[in-house]
Amino acid sequence: MHQSEVLGKAMRILIIGAGYVGLSMGVILAEKHDVLLLEMDPSKVESINKGQSPIFEDKIAELLQNAIQSGRLKAQSPEGPLGYRDVVMVCVGTPSREDGSVNLSYVDDAMKLLFERVDEFCDNYTAVGIKSTVPPGTTKTLVLDKIEKGHFTDRLGAFFNPEFLREGTAIEDAKNPDRIIIGASNEKAASLVQRMYMESLGNKADNILTMSLESGELCKYVSNSFLATKISFANEIANITERIPGADFDSVVKGMAADSRICGKFFGSGAGYGGSCFPKDVSGLIMLAKNDLNVATHILQAAQRVNAERPQRILDFLKEHVSDIKGKKIAVLGIAFKPGTDDIRESPALKVMKQLSDNGANVWAHDPLLSRMEISEDIKNQINLTESINECLKNSDACILMTEWKEYIDMGLEAITDTMSNKLLIDGRRAFVNRDIPSGITYRAIGRPN
Ligand code: NAD
Repeated sequence: MHQSEVLGKAMRILIIGAGYVGLSMGVILAEKHDVLLLEMDPSKVESINKGQSPIFEDKIAELLQNAIQSGRLKAQSPEGPLGYRDVVMVCVGTPSREDGSVNLSYVDDAMKLLFERVDEFCDNYTAVGIKSTVPPGTTKTLVLDKIEKGHFTDRLGAFFNPEFLREGTAIEDAKNPDRIIIGASNEKAASLVQRMYMESLGNKADNILTMSLESGELCKYVSNSFLATKISFANEIANITERIPGADFDSVVKGMAADSRICGKFFGSGAGYGGSCFPKDVSGLIMLAKNDLNVATHILQAAQRVNAERPQRILDFLKEHVSDIKGKKIAVLGIAFKPGTDDIRESPALKVMKQLSDNGANVWAHDPLLSRMEISEDIKNQINLTESINECLKNSDACILMTEWKEYIDMGLEAITDTMSNKLLIDGRRAFVNRDIPSGITYRAIGRPN
């Protein structure tokens, strides 16, 4: 029996990919276990080892510093020594290909690296698995089949363990998960992963659901697709509510959600869903159903269509008040796809800004985390990006709120519109919908009749 088989002793964990998921999990697991992060981006490795988080997430800075100081967390390039490990977990990206299907090349590369170096990380028995979101069948093909082909069955077990954290509250979510799903090829692999969580999250891990690899993989896609569909449904209801004088979106939702069969949580309307997960996971499930299963996905495609129309809805509001936006200064508040994160992948704000710019507007944009954002040269050439909220708003002909950062909400409508030439606020997130609207300000919000 090696050291980490003794219950309560730190386990030896290897995580491949130190992005939002890998790093968040790494710092949490390192409160109890010994964690090595393999990361291909040298600047992230350097930053992590200095105790500086390459991503912005609430509470991550402190956890990372503690983990580095305690010596329980280290990052290195994939070529470095792996050391013996009890659990190996792949957390690399699974972006969409051009056609919307899932690009598994990063997972494939990570697995190739691992299966070339089994003797280096396995001294007794190691659970090797995937935490990245992958289509059903992937863990079997890229992990289990390789274990069997390589005759590693008495040394390695395969697992799939989806992650449900939300950017912006990643640490809180990962520490207090609604459920932990473990798909595993056998009991031994499942129990290693289970122990990893039980010992680091304490009794909070009593909500562990074990299932087949394929059920786990599908469960992650279905969960994200359902949440995305819920947002699109809310946005369709908002489109209807906007055209009914006297109707109020919040009252409609409140009345609806009082039915115990309907959950009112996550039923907000706004500028649409974005980020690195919902858009790609909805596309991934649609493409899987179409290409591999020959199953129609009417609801998922409708959810996607409704979401694609959201930027135009924001522009429609603007055009109701500013007939020709050519040459007009339009201030956009918020670039992140939601508050609390520096992630701009698939952010609706980028789409709105592009459409404004294509229509000849003079677009200015602000975000509290602008300096951390990876904004393309294309956008930089079209949009005036500023870290000064005053510069963004001054003399503008309209302001569009795209991310409901606390900074903007705390400012209030009067301060936001104070220096604007034309005090028109389009609230793409319904952030001020329940506030009194001071006279002289034209306020339009998604889901609110004019
Ligand atoms: P990310 O892009 O932030 O991080 C991935 C990291 O992996 C990058 O730092 C990249 O450099 C690194 N990497 C890629 N290939 C590598 C390799 N072969 N060796 C070492 N490092 C490698 O991605 P993310 O947002 O953390 O998402 C990871 C996975 O988790 C995706 O499948 C995603 O769908 C899923 N997921 C993400 C979230 C989220 O909120 N971001 C939530 C749940 C699930």
